[in-house]
Amino acid sequence: MTPMQEQNPVIRETPCKTILGKSGIGDYSLNCYGGCEHACVYCYARFMQRFHPHEQSWGAYVDVKTNAVEVLERQLRRAAPGNVFVSSACDGWQPLEAEYSLTRECCRLLVRHGFQVNALTKSALILRDLDIFAGSTARVGVTVTTLDPRLAALWEPHASPVEDRLRVLEEAHAAGLHTSVMFGPLLPFLYDTYENIYALLERAAALRVDTIWVDAFNPRPMVWEATAALLDKEFPGLRERYQRVLFSPPVRHAYLAALRGHIATAAERLKIMDRVSSCV
Ligand code: SF4
Repeated sequence: MTPMQEQNPVIRETPCKTILGKSGIGDYSLNCYGGCEHACVYCYARFMQRFHPHEQSWGAYVDVKTNAVEVLERQLRRAAPGNVFVSSACDGWQPLEAEYSLTRECCRLLVRHGFQVNALTKSALILRDLDIFAGSTARVGVTVTTLDPRLAALWEPHASPVEDRLRVLEEAHAAGLHTSVMFGPLLPFLYDTYENIYALLERAAALRVDTIWVDAFNPRPMVWEATAALLDKEFPGLRERYQRVLFSPPVRHAYLAALRGHIATAAERLKIMDRVSSCV
């Protein structure tokens, strides 16, 4: 069964010992949930299942760290202020958050203690929390892989519609917050042409997004199995091309060089080079 067919994830309430972790991306990361209902096929956090085995596949379970707020309050008595990536191994604003409000309350504490929240989500639920971020140094970011709703529904089946995510950027900017967008992973042969990349950057420019990242599709652990299953079902002609672009070094090298060229040219044409960072 592919993730997009699975509904009603198995929910487990699992208290945690720590919630604020050291991060390779920034100073800290914070994940109130283990697992993610959004069930993105390309999700890099799939490897977490190696450390937290579940019978269900990625996207079909969520562990809820019910004591996250109390634990964070305790940790903040000692932690030096810094920036906090919310979230690195789940989506902090996945649908369950509407019920638990753990990410919201943790963000409230972080802001109150002078930490900079760097939020990245695929959910319009974050609009609920703009009141907490208002007037702070918080950065509000969304991830978008494609402007094509059909592709988005296949690859990130339970995330908010793309236009709703873009509305987050609009409203966060209007609220005076720094905004960012991650365009990635770009879907090889489905949404990675020069025209596609130009269209993505053009939307970001129109929304006056402050920071724009673009990333390629990377062969992260446990991602290939889910990707192959989706390709076999929906795009059978692409399986071998994906395999080459992900796992054949010379093919990958040429592919990434072409992507870098597209990104640079599009950014230059739109005159937004200073806001675009290529992770490719
Ligand atoms: S929203 Fe992020 S964490 Fe959740 S499944 Fe998608 S890529 Fe993974």
